[in-house]
Order: sequence, then C-alpha cells, then structure tokens
Amino acid sequence: MDYDLVIIGGGLAGSALAYYAARAGMKPLLLEQDCLGAGGATRASRGIVRVYDPDPVLMAWNQRGLAEWKQLAASEGLCFVPCGVLYLIAPSELAQVRQRMAMFPDWGRSVAVLEDAQLRQRFAWLAAQPALPASLDGAQSPPPLLGLYEAGSGYCEPRHAAQQLGMRARQSGATILEGAPVSAIEESGDGVRVTCSPAEFSAAYVVIAAGAASRGFLPAEPAEARGIALSTMRSQGQALNCCLIDSISGGYARPEGAGHIFHCGGEPLLPGATTTDLHQCNRRRLARAYAGEEHLIPVTLHLSEDLYTSDFRPLLPQAGIGRSRVLPFTGFSGRGAKYIPAAARELAGRLAYLTRPRP
Ligand SMILES: Cc1cc2nc3c(=O)[nH]c(=O)nc-3n(C[C@H](O)[C@H](O)[C@H](O)COP(=O)(O)OP(=O)(O)OC[C@H]3O[C@@H](n4cnc5c(N)ncnc54)[C@H](O)[C@@H]3O)c2cc1C
Repeated sequence: MDYDLVIIGGGLAGSALAYYAARAGMKPLLLEQDCLGAGGATRASRGIVRVYDPDPVLMAWNQRGLAEWKQLAASEGLCFVPCGVLYLIAPSELAQVRQRMAMFPDWGRSVAVLEDAQLRQRFAWLAAQPALPASLDGAQSPPPLLGLYEAGSGYCEPRHAAQQLGMRARQSGATILEGAPVSAIEESGDGVRVTCSPAEFSAAYVVIAAGAASRGFLPAEPAEARGIALSTMRSQGQALNCCLIDSISGGYARPEGAGHIFHCGGEPLLPGATTTDLHQCNRRRLARAYAGEEHLIPVTLHLSEDLYTSDFRPLLPQAGIGRSRVLPFTGFSGRGAKYIPAAARELAGRLAYLTRPRP
C-alpha cells in the first residue's frame, strides 16, 4: 500500500482529519482539487462555534468541538476567537433550554438565560424596536427578547484553520497535494485504488471529505447539496461585540475586523434569486435584533454549498467501521465548523488503531 489513508477533499473536515491522522502515527495522503480551505463550504463559512442546538446529539458534538477548538488555539495557535455567542430564542424554546441545561450540566453552569431588560443593558447594539418584518411572520407588536448567552463560545476562521491544520499535518508527516482532483476510486480486497489523473495511489482506507461533491463518491448515502448565501455588511449602528444567532428570524452575524463590518446571513439559495434579493433577505433577518435595515450596507456576497442530511446529523463511519474501506466524513449540514475537529480526532484514533502494524 502507498498510504494508510487517502483523504479526498481539503476543506475543514479533510484538513482536520489529515492533522489528527498524522499526529496519531498514520501515513495519510490528502488530495484537494483546489487549495486547502478554498474549495467548498469552508471557503464561505462564518465559523460560529457554539454549543446549544435543539438536537442533543449535535449538542454533545458541539460541546466536544468547542473544547477541541480551545485546545487547538492553545497548542497550535489556531484562530479561535472566544468573543461569546448570544442566541435569541422564542419563549416556547425555554423549556427545552432548561432541559438541555440539566442534561449537559457543565454547559448549563456556563450559560446565562437573559430577559429583555438584562439583554438591553448588556448588549447596547440590540435593536430598540425588535419587530419582525411582516414578510417574515406578520407579527403585530414586537415581542420582548429572550436570550441565551454562551460566554466561552465564539468563532473560528475556517479557511485559515484548514490551511493551518494542513501545515501542521505536513510537519507531522502527512502528504498534501493541492490542485489534485480525484476522478475515481475502486475498492479491491484489502485496499482502495484512487485515480487522480495521471497518477494512481493505493491505500488501506479512503475517507470521502469532499463536502457537497461527496455524493459522487457515496451514491448510496441519503444526502443532498444545499447552498447558503452569506453577506458581509458594513454597519452604521453600534459595533457587534459577540456572535449573534436569532433563531426566530433565522438571521445571524459575527464580528469581522476592527470596524463595523461583519459577516451575516443564513439565507438558503433559492433558484433565480439575485444578489440583491439575497442581501435584502440577510439584512431583513438580521435587522430584527441588530440595528435597522437602513443601517446595514451590503459589501460582498459569498455563495457556497455543503452536504445536508435530512436530520442535519453528519455522515460518519459506523462504530465498528465495518467491511467497507471507503468511509464518509461529510454531511455536516451547514453546522460543521463547530465540531469537525472533535469528530476528526475521534475518526483518526479509530483508523490509527485499525492500520497499526500487527506483530
Ligand atoms: C455560508 C456558510 C456558512 C456557514 N457557517 C457556519 C457556522 O457559522 N458555524 C458552523 O459550525 N458551520 C458553518 N457552516 C458549515 C461548515 O462551514 C461546513 O459544514 C464545513 O466547512 C464543511 O467542511 P467540509 O470539509 O466537509 O466541506 P468543504 O469545505 O465543502 O470541503 C470539501 C473540499 O473537497 C474538495 N473536493 C471536492 N471534490 C473533490 C475531488 N473530486 N477531488 C479532490 N477534492 C475535491 C473541494 O474543493 C473542497 O475544498 C457554514 C457553511 C456555509 C456554506
């Protein structure tokens, strides 16, 4: 075999897996058709890293992911900014939040549930008149705000993180080839052949980390490519000093740079939508909680696709890995930046065990 492991795709998932696999003593090869972090969802991702999720399985992953980001920042200098995340929720969500606080007691002790007056005292940039535009819900009077504040959460810079992880993986012995599109894979007995024309490689295992393009290599997996449009806005309101997720409007944002320019969005890509439509939707969603629409000036638009599953849970190899030597590490459904490093560490550990030399 040429390699213990070939990884197809060098987004955040493939780069993180290459890093942990090399650190676990494996001999990995990563093939990326573009440049690390530059090809898919990772390129446009906001990288907001928070723990709370309505799905407890994803929440458990997020909790491990946040710990892993902090560890990577401390040990490898990776770009994780612990500026805090404010999550605006509907009153009907509060019972579920309390239940999660009991289920995840460490997290429960570290978050604060804040009511309208407390929120306004703490976050000067919150909109004075939090009204949903009629096009979003037709609300007559603005409801009071309710928030969940995770002080230790924040955001990573996914593109830079993918590049930094790739560099560290190389330093630990991984081979990483950029500008290397994989066109075919073929399982044969005790290994897999990978075609990256004009070269061919053999490996004990192949991991598909090709984001939205993973479907071509994993035709049996039930997942679809979906796009998200993300705006960068300049604001003439108060500077945002933490990440914001408004679960009611679907708007979210994170600080960017020293001024009032930040990334925001969350608008799914609809066929035929123009750049102006997408900016307007992003702005309208955000304006419920932050500034007024007239104070948010679009600067750039980023469009990118991720691989989505029906329940938003990722496609990961089964616990025992099974007999197949072609394994998925994809399906992060627009949420992967939070927990990919934790999932990569776990998968690398399992693969290192399977490929270790036997006496
Ligand atoms: C706009 C947007 C905003 C997001 N915001 C957040 C957020 O705030 N918080 C969060 O937790 N998550 C967020 N996400 C989700 C998260 O960023 C993604 O889940 C994660 O980046 C996916 O990484 P990946 O490596 O699986 O896929 P990708 O980044 O898509 O990487 C796949 C790579 O495979 C390569 N590739 C494809 N085909 C081949 C081939 N044949 N041969 C070789 N290489 C190939 C591509 O070039 C690409 O580089 C967001 C996603 C988007 C799109």
